[in-house]
Amino acid sequence: MARYRESVCRFCRREGMKLFLKGERCLADKCAIDRRNYPPGQHGQRRPKLSEYGLQLREKQKVKRYYGLLERQFKNSFYQAERQRGITGEELLSLLERRLDNVVYRAGLLPSRKLARQFVCQNHFMVNNKKVDIPSYLVKIGDIIRVKESSKENEYIKEAPRRADQRGIPEWLSLDKDRLEVIIQDKPNKGHIPININEQLIVGLYSK
Ligand code: SF4
Repeated sequence: MARYRESVCRFCRREGMKLFLKGERCLADKCAIDRRNYPPGQHGQRRPKLSEYGLQLREKQKVKRYYGLLERQFKNSFYQAERQRGITGEELLSLLERRLDNVVYRAGLLPSRKLARQFVCQNHFMVNNKKVDIPSYLVKIGDIIRVKESSKENEYIKEAPRRADQRGIPEWLSLDKDRLEVIIQDKPNKGHIPININEQLIVGLYSK
């Protein structure tokens, strides 16, 4: 599968905000946004006025990169959101938050979504006592995500309680720090996402 190989800090600089793509480093002084908050490249310090299309494109890129998705995966989530009963933009954000890779990251079990995706693929988690190795698996209210017994000694996983305290956990999730279990308490919404998103711009882009 195609993957972007340059520093992901460029994504944050392009969008002019922290997208928290590098785990612990994002909270340290070394964050590129704290040091060079302008777009990468030779003309990065000029910020041209964007057209309506440009604004829509930037918003889509920002959210796609925040969740670490490729274009096709992001578009599929959008079409799935369109088929839901609610407002498409809000449903899209809810679907993205409910991805299993995002959930284990947001609960503090792993330092970044990238690592969370790897761990899901490598079968370190169970959902309702069943093995799930699909990062895009959508959790629902009442689901219980467990770290497999054999994975509890992993160095990253052992840090989960400290990480969860440091970062905080969104209120739609709860983490049992002793058992390393995440329970889905509620449906996530835009208010639970720690970056500013104008989802209507994304809906406008894909509705053309
Ligand atoms: Fe890099 Fe993280 Fe800072 Fe983004 S938030 S610029 S990924 S260190």
